[in-house]
Amino acid sequence: MPDPAVARRGFHAGRAFGLLAAIFVVAFGLAVLLLAEDQQRVIEVNGRLQERTFPEIIRYQRLARNLEQLRQEGERIFAVSSHASRQQSMFVVTLIASHPSVLEHPAAAELAREAEQFLGKVVGQSARDNQRPAAHYDEWRRIAGRLGVQVDDVSIEGINLAGNDLQQVSAVMNLARYKLMAVLLLVGLFLAVLAVLVRHHLIHPLQRIDHALSGLSAEKPAPVFNTSRLLEIQAVEEAIREHHDLLVQNEEIRRGLESLANKDGLTGLMNRRHFMHSAEMELQRSQRYRRPVTVAMADLDFFKKLNDTYGHAAGDSVLKAFAERVREALRQSDLVCRYGGEEFAFLFPEISTAETAKLAERLRAACADNDVPLSDGRRVKVTVSIGLADASECPIEVALRYADEALYEAKRQGRNRVVISGAGVVTNPIQENP
Ligand code: GH3
Ligand code: MG
Ligand code: MG
Repeated sequence: MPDPAVARRGFHAGRAFGLLAAIFVVAFGLAVLLLAEDQQRVIEVNGRLQERTFPEIIRYQRLARNLEQLRQEGERIFAVSSHASRQQSMFVVTLIASHPSVLEHPAAAELAREAEQFLGKVVGQSARDNQRPAAHYDEWRRIAGRLGVQVDDVSIEGINLAGNDLQQVSAVMNLARYKLMAVLLLVGLFLAVLAVLVRHHLIHPLQRIDHALSGLSAEKPAPVFNTSRLLEIQAVEEAIREHHDLLVQNEEIRRGLESLANKDGLTGLMNRRHFMHSAEMELQRSQRYRRPVTVAMADLDFFKKLNDTYGHAAGDSVLKAFAERVREALRQSDLVCRYGGEEFAFLFPEISTAETAKLAERLRAACADNDVPLSDGRRVKVTVSIGLADASECPIEVALRYADEALYEAKRQGRNRVVISGAGVVTNPIQENP
């Protein structure tokens, strides 16, 4: 279990990414505000163009047209021959000179008044002389020239007025374009940084967790993680380590239970059930590859009498001592179990019955020649009878029955001997029994 006192160092993924999102929203909001400000300026200039500049341009155009007409009427005064026509043109000149569009422009108004006065004087004199006013034409050309220049000036003033506003609009739009590009660049940069952070702090740790989980096993060491900065990832990694500890503990418990289920409690040898299962497997393997295999049954002689003489605890000590001798005598590949009471069953793979008989004989002799020391200091002599049978061509139960028959024969012949099924006695020592 994790120690709650040990506070993890790092930050919550939710808070970290929430903070990033908040920064993004604020920065993006500011960028939108800046762009909205530019848009507002464009709208303002556009409104000014509609409400003020365009009417102003129209006024300048009207003024230019009036001045041009004034100039043309002046020309006509010098061109026509009838006095009535000159009077008519003079009337138009007077109208134009007093027109509001001319009067509201001081320079144009002054020039128009000068032209009107000059033309009025010319028309009056020609009426008196009753002839065309050719004598003043040169002076009129100068005034007409100035009128022409004034017409151009007025037109240019109108164009400049619109030009200023349009220039402002295009400057603001240019600025907005740069701002938009900067905003897009920032958004791209933010997304790139976010992708790197997500990859480094989320995707990679999750991949490591996935890898660790798929290879999690009690046989392998606990997974090692590069400590993540995210508390949630740290919690998952911690849980995986705890899970691994549990797996190891469970495996130890499983092995303990398996040992309890398969072993005899007194001698530590296999129990009968486990022996039968293992022997069955081994026998099948040996028979499949036509390898020699032998089984044996062993029974301690006069054990009841030993119990009666020395007590049950002494009998237990003898059983344990015999199991120890068996372990010392057998090879790693041999199988042995406590078959029941003071009876033991064996399976010897890869070894013929004749060879097994030598091994069994050594075991018998080791028992007969070595007294078993008891806890009270006394020593007790124990002998064993052993029956052997070839198991290379029959099922395990049948082979064990043959071995048991050979064992019975060994008992019948006087005990403390090895008998091979169907082959008679291997040894026939006359030993004293306890
Ligand atoms: P034989 O030479 O014919 O085998 O005679 P025996 O006395 O050994 O055979 P018998 O079957 O008459 O007696 C077996 C005795 O083994 C009876 C029983 O009290 C004893 N025994 C069985 N299991 C245990 C055990 O776990 N501990 C002890 N101390 N004695 C046991
Ligand atoms: Mg016995
Ligand atoms: Mg017995």
